[in-house]
Amino acid sequence: MSLVENMVYSNQLNETIKDKKIIKVVVNQNPHTFVWFALNPSEAYCEHSKSNEIATKYESLLLNQEIKSTAAKRTYTFVYIGNRTLMFNSMSAIYHTKDAKLPKRHQLLLEFEDGTALSLCSSLGGPIFLFEIDEKGDPVGYSNDFPSLLSDDFSLEFFMNLFEMTDFREMSTKAFLATKNRIPGLDNSILHEILWEAKLNPKTKMKTLKEEDFIHMYQAIKKVFPDVIAKGGKDTEKDLYGNFGGYITHVSKNTLGKPCTRCGEIIVKEAYLGGSVYYCPNCQKF
Ligand SMILES: [Zn+2]
Repeated sequence: MSLVENMVYSNQLNETIKDKKIIKVVVNQNPHTFVWFALNPSEAYCEHSKSNEIATKYESLLLNQEIKSTAAKRTYTFVYIGNRTLMFNSMSAIYHTKDAKLPKRHQLLLEFEDGTALSLCSSLGGPIFLFEIDEKGDPVGYSNDFPSLLSDDFSLEFFMNLFEMTDFREMSTKAFLATKNRIPGLDNSILHEILWEAKLNPKTKMKTLKEEDFIHMYQAIKKVFPDVIAKGGKDTEKDLYGNFGGYITHVSKNTLGKPCTRCGEIIVKEAYLGGSVYYCPNCQKF
C-alpha cells in the first residue's frame, strides 16, 4: 500500500470514526500467517506464536478508548487511540455503517458507541501495530527520518542525493523505486503510474538513465501522488467505503490491451521481478 491509499484511508477515517468511543474489540479472529501484532517496535514482525500472544493484549488497551485523530505517514495509516497509535498497511480497512452486516473474516474489528464499526482484514498480510507515541505523534523507537513524499523536504536535491548514494549495479527503475522500502510510501501499487508519467520503462537499468530522466522521475512522483490522493485513490483500489477511487489509471489491469491515452499504442503486461509490470511500449521504450 502506498502513501496514496494510506492518505485516502486517513482522510476517510477522520470523517467517519474520529471522536468515537470503542465499545467492542475483536482481535485476530482469523489468524493470518503474515499479519503481525506488536505493542512496541522491538516486537515488530516477531515470530507468529509470539505475535498471536501479543494480540490477546489489544482488547484491554483499546476498549472504552476514543479515536483521537488519524494520519498517513509514509507506508502506514495511523489511528491515534489514547496514548498509542494503531498502525497498519497492506490491510483492507472497511467502515461499516450502523446496522450494516459485519464481515465474518477480519484480524481486527472495532465497534463504536453509535453502532458503526471498522474492520481490518488482510489477504496478503501486513502489520497491525499498536505503539506508544511521542509528542509529535511518531511511534516511540520507530522513527524514520525519510521525509514525506508530499512535503517540501522531499526536494529535487534530496532525490538527486538518493541517486548518488545508491549503488545501482544492474538495478532497474522498478527495483529502485519500489523495492527494499527505499522510498517509504512508494511501492508497486503506484509505481506504474509514476513510470508512465515519467516516460520510463520499468525494466530500464538505472545506470543507463540521464540526468533529465531522474528529473522526470522526481517530477512524476510530485505530480502523481497529490493527484491520486485528491481523486480519492486509483480506479483499481477500494476505499474505506468499499468504492473504487476516482483516479483513472493509465497503466493497470484496467487498461491492459487498451490504447495508451497519450500515444494510442496498446498497453502491455509482463512478468518481472516477482510481479507484473504494465507499460506503454511506445512512450516507455525499453
Ligand atoms: Zn503511450
